[in-house]
Amino acid sequence: MTSEPLLATSSPYIEVKKSRIHNNGVFARMDIPKGVRIIQYVGEKITKREADRRADLVIEESKTSKTLGAVYLFELNKRYDIDGNVHWNTARFINHSCSPNCETINEDGKIWIESTRNIKKGEELGYNYGYDFESYEEHPCKCSSSACVGYILQEKQWKKLQKK
Ligand SMILES: [Zn+2]
Repeated sequence: MTSEPLLATSSPYIEVKKSRIHNNGVFARMDIPKGVRIIQYVGEKITKREADRRADLVIEESKTSKTLGAVYLFELNKRYDIDGNVHWNTARFINHSCSPNCETINEDGKIWIESTRNIKKGEELGYNYGYDFESYEEHPCKCSSSACVGYILQEKQWKKLQKK
Protein backbone atom coordinates (compact mmCIF):
# COMPACT_ATOMS: atom_id res chain seq x y z
CA MET A 1 0.00 0.00 0.00
CA THR A 2 1.23 3.47 -0.88
CA SER A 3 0.38 6.44 1.30
CA GLU A 4 -2.44 8.62 0.12
CA PRO A 5 -1.40 11.88 -1.54
CA LEU A 6 -3.20 15.07 -0.53
CA LEU A 7 -4.47 15.75 -4.00
CA ALA A 8 -3.93 12.95 -6.47
CA THR A 9 -3.96 14.91 -9.71
CA SER A 10 -1.30 12.83 -11.37
CA SER A 11 -0.44 9.19 -11.27
CA PRO A 12 2.60 7.17 -12.35
CA TYR A 13 0.19 4.58 -13.76
CA ILE A 14 -1.24 6.67 -16.56
CA GLU A 15 -0.69 9.03 -19.46
CA VAL A 16 -3.05 11.15 -21.56
CA LYS A 17 -3.01 10.44 -25.30
CA LYS A 18 -5.22 10.74 -28.33
CA SER A 19 -8.02 8.20 -28.16
CA ARG A 20 -9.97 6.44 -30.87
CA ILE A 21 -13.08 6.78 -28.73
CA HIS A 22 -13.24 10.51 -28.16
CA ASN A 23 -10.50 13.17 -28.38
CA ASN A 24 -8.10 12.44 -25.56
CA GLY A 25 -8.10 9.39 -23.38
CA VAL A 26 -6.17 8.02 -20.44
CA PHE A 27 -3.93 5.00 -21.01
CA ALA A 28 -2.04 2.64 -18.74
CA ARG A 29 1.70 3.36 -18.74
CA MET A 30 2.32 0.03 -17.04
CA ASP A 31 0.40 -3.06 -16.03
CA ILE A 32 -2.10 -2.08 -13.35
CA PRO A 33 -3.42 -4.76 -10.99
CA LYS A 34 -7.08 -4.99 -10.02
CA GLY A 35 -8.15 -2.83 -7.10
CA VAL A 36 -5.68 0.04 -7.51
CA ARG A 37 -6.83 3.58 -6.82
CA ILE A 38 -5.31 5.07 -9.93
CA ILE A 39 -6.19 8.72 -9.71
CA GLN A 40 -8.57 11.06 -7.95
CA TYR A 41 -11.37 12.89 -9.78
CA VAL A 42 -10.88 16.43 -8.57
CA GLY A 43 -12.46 19.79 -9.24
CA GLU A 44 -14.52 22.54 -7.80
CA LYS A 45 -17.06 21.59 -5.13
CA ILE A 46 -20.35 23.30 -6.04
CA THR A 47 -23.99 23.07 -5.00
CA LYS A 48 -26.53 21.14 -7.07
CA ARG A 49 -28.17 24.40 -8.04
CA GLU A 50 -24.90 25.79 -9.36
CA ALA A 51 -24.23 22.51 -11.15
CA ASP A 52 -27.61 22.73 -12.93
CA ARG A 53 -26.85 26.31 -13.95
CA ARG A 54 -23.47 25.33 -15.42
CA ALA A 55 -24.91 22.34 -17.25
CA ASP A 56 -27.61 24.52 -18.82
CA LEU A 57 -24.96 27.05 -19.82
CA VAL A 58 -22.90 24.44 -21.64
CA ILE A 59 -26.00 23.21 -23.47
CA GLU A 60 -26.93 26.78 -24.48
CA GLU A 61 -23.40 27.51 -25.66
CA SER A 62 -23.24 24.38 -27.75
CA LYS A 63 -26.50 25.40 -29.46
CA THR A 64 -25.12 28.75 -30.59
CA SER A 65 -21.50 27.87 -31.31
CA LYS A 66 -22.26 24.47 -32.88
CA THR A 67 -19.37 22.97 -30.98
CA LEU A 68 -20.06 20.18 -28.61
CA GLY A 69 -19.82 21.42 -25.07
CA ALA A 70 -18.51 19.08 -22.45
CA VAL A 71 -19.92 18.67 -18.98
CA TYR A 72 -17.67 17.29 -16.27
CA LEU A 73 -20.12 17.33 -13.38
CA PHE A 74 -19.79 14.49 -10.96
CA GLU A 75 -22.21 13.74 -8.15
CA LEU A 76 -20.51 13.96 -4.77
CA ASN A 77 -23.53 13.63 -2.48
CA LYS A 78 -27.11 14.86 -2.17
CA ARG A 79 -26.06 18.49 -1.80
CA TYR A 80 -22.87 18.89 -3.76
CA ASP A 81 -21.36 18.06 -7.12
CA ILE A 82 -17.78 18.26 -8.33
CA ASP A 83 -17.16 20.30 -11.46
CA GLY A 84 -14.16 18.53 -12.91
CA ASN A 85 -13.67 21.00 -15.74
CA VAL A 86 -10.36 22.26 -14.33
CA HIS A 87 -6.98 21.79 -15.97
CA TRP A 88 -5.51 19.94 -12.99
CA ASN A 89 -8.16 17.22 -13.17
CA THR A 90 -6.40 14.63 -15.32
CA ALA A 91 -9.21 12.14 -14.64
CA ARG A 92 -11.58 14.19 -16.80
CA PHE A 93 -9.89 12.67 -19.87
CA ILE A 94 -11.03 9.16 -18.97
CA ASN A 95 -13.68 8.10 -21.47
CA HIS A 96 -16.90 6.25 -20.82
CA SER A 97 -16.88 2.55 -21.64
CA CYS A 98 -19.66 -0.02 -21.86
CA SER A 99 -17.06 -2.63 -20.97
CA PRO A 100 -15.11 -0.73 -18.34
CA ASN A 101 -11.87 -1.69 -16.61
CA CYS A 102 -12.36 0.94 -13.88
CA GLU A 103 -15.06 2.23 -11.59
CA THR A 104 -15.49 5.30 -9.46
CA ILE A 105 -15.33 5.06 -5.69
CA ASN A 106 -16.84 7.83 -3.60
CA GLU A 107 -15.30 7.76 -0.15
CA ASP A 108 -15.20 10.48 2.51
CA GLY A 109 -15.97 13.19 -0.02
CA LYS A 110 -13.28 12.04 -2.42
CA ILE A 111 -13.84 10.39 -5.76
CA TRP A 112 -11.33 7.80 -6.93
CA ILE A 113 -10.90 5.96 -10.18
CA GLU A 114 -10.15 2.34 -9.27
CA SER A 115 -9.25 -0.60 -11.50
CA THR A 116 -11.87 -3.37 -11.50
CA ARG A 117 -9.61 -5.91 -13.21
CA ASN A 118 -5.98 -6.27 -14.24
CA ILE A 119 -5.15 -3.72 -16.92
CA LYS A 120 -2.36 -4.25 -19.44
CA LYS A 121 0.16 -1.56 -20.32
CA GLY A 122 -1.18 0.48 -23.24
CA GLU A 123 -4.87 -0.23 -22.58
CA GLU A 124 -7.23 2.71 -22.47
CA LEU A 125 -8.93 3.29 -19.13
CA GLY A 126 -12.69 3.60 -19.01
CA TYR A 127 -15.53 3.57 -16.55
CA ASN A 128 -19.28 3.72 -16.90
CA TYR A 129 -20.34 7.36 -16.59
CA GLY A 130 -23.59 6.15 -15.03
CA TYR A 131 -25.86 8.49 -16.96
CA ASP A 132 -29.57 8.21 -16.38
CA PHE A 133 -32.04 6.76 -18.89
CA GLU A 134 -33.94 10.05 -19.08
CA SER A 135 -31.76 11.65 -21.75
CA TYR A 136 -29.79 8.69 -23.09
CA GLU A 137 -30.41 9.63 -26.73
CA GLU A 138 -28.31 12.77 -26.28
CA HIS A 139 -25.30 10.66 -25.36
CA PRO A 140 -24.38 8.17 -28.08
CA CYS A 141 -21.46 5.90 -27.21
CA LYS A 142 -18.59 5.08 -29.53
CA CYS A 143 -16.53 3.01 -27.11
CA SER A 144 -16.16 0.24 -29.76
CA SER A 145 -16.26 -2.53 -27.19
CA SER A 146 -18.14 -5.66 -28.26
CA ALA A 147 -20.52 -5.03 -25.36
CA CYS A 148 -21.33 -1.47 -26.50
CA VAL A 149 -25.03 -0.67 -26.13
CA GLY A 150 -24.72 2.44 -28.32
CA TYR A 151 -25.39 4.94 -25.58
CA ILE A 152 -23.70 6.24 -22.47
CA LEU A 153 -25.98 4.73 -19.88
CA GLN A 154 -25.68 3.17 -16.45
CA GLU A 155 -25.61 -0.60 -16.67
CA LYS A 156 -28.61 -1.26 -14.45
CA GLN A 157 -30.75 0.55 -17.03
CA TRP A 158 -29.54 -1.37 -20.09
CA LYS A 159 -32.65 -3.56 -19.93
CA LYS A 160 -34.82 -0.52 -20.61
CA LEU A 161 -32.88 0.01 -23.82
CA GLN A 162 -33.65 -3.50 -25.03
CA LYS A 163 -37.36 -2.91 -24.53
CA LYS A 164 -37.27 0.06 -26.93
ZN1 LIG B 1 -20.25 1.88 -25.61
